Amino acid sequence: MSAALEFACQAAGEWIRQLDIRPVGATATLPELRRSFGGPLPAHGLSAEEVVRTLARDAAVGMHGNAGGRFFAWVFGGGLESALAADWLVATWDQNAALYSASPASAVIEEIAGEWIKELLDLPRDASFAFTSGCQMAHVTGLAAARFGLLERAGWNVEDDGLFGAPAIRVLTSDQRHVTIDRAVRFLGIGRNALEMLQTDEDGRVPAAALDRALSSGSGPTVLVLNAADLNIGACDPFKELIPLAHSVGAWVHIDGAFGLFARASGTYRDRLDGVELADSWATDAHKWLNVPFDCGIAIIRDRTAHRAAMTSSASYVAPTSTARDQSDWNPEYSRRARGIPVYAALRELGRSGVEALVDRCCMHCADIIDGIGELPGAQILARPTLNQGLVRFGRPGASPEENDAFTDETIRRINETGEAFFSSTTWRNRRAMRVSVVNARTTESDVRRAIAAATSVLLRNFDESVANRPSNRDSNG
Ligand SMILES: *Cc1c(COP(=O)(O)O)cnc(C)c1O
Repeated sequence: MSAALEFACQAAGEWIRQLDIRPVGATATLPELRRSFGGPLPAHGLSAEEVVRTLARDAAVGMHGNAGGRFFAWVFGGGLESALAADWLVATWDQNAALYSASPASAVIEEIAGEWIKELLDLPRDASFAFTSGCQMAHVTGLAAARFGLLERAGWNVEDDGLFGAPAIRVLTSDQRHVTIDRAVRFLGIGRNALEMLQTDEDGRVPAAALDRALSSGSGPTVLVLNAADLNIGACDPFKELIPLAHSVGAWVHIDGAFGLFARASGTYRDRLDGVELADSWATDAHKWLNVPFDCGIAIIRDRTAHRAAMTSSASYVAPTSTARDQSDWNPEYSRRARGIPVYAALRELGRSGVEALVDRCCMHCADIIDGIGELPGAQILARPTLNQGLVRFGRPGASPEENDAFTDETIRRINETGEAFFSSTTWRNRRAMRVSVVNARTTESDVRRAIAAATSVLLRNFDESVANRPSNRDSNG
C-alpha cells in the first residue's frame, strides 16, 4: 500500500482511539483554520503522503468529535465500524452507482439494502426506494413523486409540461416541521407560499381537528407532511387518525422520519409511530440513527410508478420487470457513490436485534441526561424525552425570560467549552433551550455521566452578571 494510504489508515485509527479523550468540540477558530489551509493555489504539487499528513495534522483541531459518544448536538449519529470500513471500500472501488451496467455489485447490494430497510421499518414491501444524500433529498424525491402522482390524477403531466399552468398544489404541514421541507417544496417549484401550517398541540402533535379544518378550507391536489419525530422533542403525529382523514380527500401523505422512523425497529418505542405505515412516502436518514457515516438518506415510496416517473432518466416511465435495478431510475442524481453499501454493512453488523438495542439504549441515555442535568440548580426540564430527544433550559431566580435565554446560551457555550460534552441550542415555543439528542451507537453510560458532570461543573460556578446582556446565538437546526 502507498505511504499516503498507510498513513490515512493509521490516522483514522488514531482518531477513533482518541475520541474518548479529546475535547468533543473543535477548538480552532475560524481565522486559525483559514491560516492553516489558506494561501495561493499551489504552483507545484506535493507527494500524496505529505498532503495527507498535513491535512490530518491541521484539520484535527477544527473537527468535532461527533463520531464519538459525547456529542449530543443536532441529530448527527456516528459510524459503526462495519459501515465506516464499507465506506472506505466504496471510495476505493470508486464505482459509479448510477446503473447496474456501470457497477453490477453496487446495484445489487443497494437493492438488498433497500429491501432490508423496508422490512426493518415495517413499511410496504412492494414500495420503491432510493438512497439519497440525506433526508432533505429524500423529501425532494418523495415530494417529486407526490407532485407527479397528484397532478396526473388532475389530468396534468408535470414531467412533460412542467408546473406553469398546472393546478396549484397545497402542502399542509406541521408548525414543527423541519426546515428541509420548505427547501424541498422550493426546489420542486411548488413554492414556500403553498405551505399551510397546522398548529400543533402541547405535545407537539398535529390534532385531527386542525387537519380537518385545513382540508375543508380548500381543495385541489394536496400533500400532507407529518413528523415521525420532530427535531426538538421527538413528537410523532397521530398517524392513525390523520392519514385516513387526508386519504379521504385524496391527499398524498409524506412522512419526515429523519431519525424517528427507526423507532419502528424497537418493540418498546414502536407504538409511538402507529399508523405511519399508512402514508404514501417516507423520508429518513441512515446517517443518523442507523450510524452509517455521512452521508446517506433514504426515500421510500408506495406508488412505484409515480416515483419512477418523477426520477427516471430513461424515456419510458414504465419500469421494466425482471431486469436489474438501475439507481438512476429512482434517484435524483445521475453519477453517484454507492452510499447504500454502508447501510447494507450496518444492517449486517447489527441485525434486527442490534438496531432495536441501539434505539432503546439511545432513548435511555437521553432520559438519563435530561434527568441528570434537569435536577441541577438553575436547570429546568422543558421536554422529557418520549424517544431520544429532550430539552432543558437554564435560568436564575428573579431573572426575566430574556435574561434566562441569554443565560441558557451562555451555559451551553460553557458546557461545550469543557470539552467533555457537546450540545446545541434551539428556540422552542419562543424560548431558548439546550437540545439533547442521543443517536450515537458509541454513547455509553460513562459518556452520560461525563456530560452530566460537565453541566454540573458549569452550573455550580457563579456566572458573571454581564452574561444576561450578551446577544444570543443563532438558532441551530439540523
Ligand atoms: C436531520 C433532519 C432532517 C434533514 O436531514 P438531512 O439528512 O440533513 O438532509 C429533516 N428532518 C428532521 C426531523 C431531521 O432531524
